[in-house]
Amino acid sequence: MAQFEELGRKVSAYRPADELGLLRKAYEFSAREHRAQTRLSGEPYLSHPLEVANILADMKMDGVCLAAGMLHDVVEDTPATIDEVRREFGREVARIVEGATKISRIEFFNPEDKQAENLRKMVLAMVDDIRVVLVKLADRLHNMRTLEYLPAEKRVRIARETLEIYAPIAHRLGMGKMRGELEDLAFRYLEPEAFEEVKQAVESRRKVSEEFLADVCKRVKKKMEEHAIPARIEGRIKRLYSIWQKLKRQQISIEQVYDLLAVRIITDSVKNCYAALGVVHNTWRPVPGRIKDFIAIPRPNLYQSLHTSVIGPQGQPFEVQIRTEEMHRLAEEGIAAHWKYKDGRALSPRDEERFAWLRHLVEWQREMRDPGEFLSTLKIDLYPEEVYAFTPRGKVIVLPRDATPIDFAYAIHTEVGHHCVGVKVNGRIVPLKSKLHNGDIVEILTQPGHHPSRDWLAAVKTSRARNKIKHWVNVAERTQAVDIGKKLLEKEARKYDLSLKSAPQDLALRIAADYGCRTLDDLEAGIGYGKISARQALAKLFPAAQIDAYGPRPETPAGRPEQGTSSAAIKVHGHDDLMVYLAKCCHPIRGEDIVGYITRGKGIAVHSRSCPNVQNLLYDAERRIDVQWAGTKQSLYPVKLTLATADRPGLLAEVTSAISDVHSNIQNIEARTGDDRASIDVTLDIVDLQHLNQIVSSLRRIDGVYQVRRVMHP
Ligand code: MN
Repeated sequence: MAQFEELGRKVSAYRPADELGLLRKAYEFSAREHRAQTRLSGEPYLSHPLEVANILADMKMDGVCLAAGMLHDVVEDTPATIDEVRREFGREVARIVEGATKISRIEFFNPEDKQAENLRKMVLAMVDDIRVVLVKLADRLHNMRTLEYLPAEKRVRIARETLEIYAPIAHRLGMGKMRGELEDLAFRYLEPEAFEEVKQAVESRRKVSEEFLADVCKRVKKKMEEHAIPARIEGRIKRLYSIWQKLKRQQISIEQVYDLLAVRIITDSVKNCYAALGVVHNTWRPVPGRIKDFIAIPRPNLYQSLHTSVIGPQGQPFEVQIRTEEMHRLAEEGIAAHWKYKDGRALSPRDEERFAWLRHLVEWQREMRDPGEFLSTLKIDLYPEEVYAFTPRGKVIVLPRDATPIDFAYAIHTEVGHHCVGVKVNGRIVPLKSKLHNGDIVEILTQPGHHPSRDWLAAVKTSRARNKIKHWVNVAERTQAVDIGKKLLEKEARKYDLSLKSAPQDLALRIAADYGCRTLDDLEAGIGYGKISARQALAKLFPAAQIDAYGPRPETPAGRPEQGTSSAAIKVHGHDDLMVYLAKCCHPIRGEDIVGYITRGKGIAVHSRSCPNVQNLLYDAERRIDVQWAGTKQSLYPVKLTLATADRPGLLAEVTSAISDVHSNIQNIEARTGDDRASIDVTLDIVDLQHLNQIVSSLRRIDGVYQVRRVMHP
């Protein structure tokens, strides 16, 4: 009980008006339910929920949140039920406990699909009430602080989860202190050797560093006083995990880390922040290129400060961070910072903005059927490395690294994205898919009536742009497919002198259902996409007309060009009346692994599975179709090979004779030489994959042939 009294005093200090009744009741309930349990540290289990509540109290959270923290494990680990919690503590507490319980049942590191699904669940639980995630973060922080008692492999799993999921979420919610502690604790268990190394390096400098910081703080304080800038000065040594990240990323030594030591100037107003920056730059020489104004341009998690690096008294570089008290509190506590002053779920506009990210994620996850895609969206948003670009009027658009002008256009407005035809970056026209850099001034050129293109999907970096493009393309393609399906069905009906209007509506719907379609539109779309044969559908619709759904066509339909001889060589499962052709980019050959892609109006394009285009095309699973090589019909397929060879006399002759030995024709051959290397491009007639493999291996056997590669055009 003494422990509870201590917690109670802490709470009363920041919420003097609060009744402690609910919290006391939660403490007693938790104590009773967990009474028989101990932690691996040997302590009674109760110490854990009590510590979690304490961490939440340090974050100055409200009574409901603290009670939920106290109860967060009872549903998961004791016979108590969520209904009981609801009865005893009310709906709000129960909702938070339920959310936290759901999250603790998630196993994050499963196969990728599962992981995405789990993150999705976690995000959903968070959105219910942001306090769910605050309780989870407090829970995780205490577990990380006591991780040493767990078996080794469990330690690593939890530490990894912390580093890859919880710390980034804390970061995204602006909770700098939480993120920092989680990262350093995880680092210790994940990379014990690196951790020790960095720690040693910092420790061996600690005394010098601290003296240096104390001295600089004193000087800064004096300077601020001279200029009548009210300020509180703090010195800090960079966190171990951040140091290590920097050492690793920039391949430098610890002496070269400019911001290893930092001084914080915390003042009262934005005006004084800039004034303080001026004073600092007048006192010490700033390092060029290291001045960052996060006050004018906050980071995506709304972090604000001025950063600069200067060369100190003995030539030692250090960083200076300047911010107001308010900015400081937000940088340390993020979304938790406002709960002190407010009850319930009403959020300030600033927190609203932070929270909007979560809500968007939930909207997107509804639109995204593919869990892998959700995961990549989340990763983009959780690990931002941002680029700041500007509109011609000077508005800042923050984008992830490698973002394109297309992302920029969509960030401005969906319509600007949809209609963008070109872009000027810093006054010059550049390709829409080029990468943006910090400080670029971007002017999007639009044209009414212009539309997004599917291949933008491969270039964009923001989930916003990707979702908007995908949505547009899907809607447009479906409209088109329905249209084409309607026409195909009508055309087929005319051949048999049937009128579609005479088919009973309910029968039509039943037939649609046969194909797994909910509406007639769906059925027509299926026909339009080429997944359903128009003639088979017609035969079902008019059973009396005796349409031979699988037999030869009564006539070749007009206006459908035959695509050469290749179509007879390929079988599309369940369909006989579809046009098939071999894609020009990869020219698949008999025997090769192939995949069909339903094109608009041209039938089915057959690609080699290894064709670089396939990756892009397969974005749309709806348009993918299984195809196989049919029969044994012999046709010849052109294949282009590139050989990297030594430059020696007689080699070309050996190559051509090796080719004729395996009975292939050379359509074209070209050789180029340079230094002591040569390259030979040759186009051959190939019967099938086996034939190709035979040729490739006999070419490889030739002395001086280093590499044989098949050429595919992207
Ligand atoms: Mn727990």
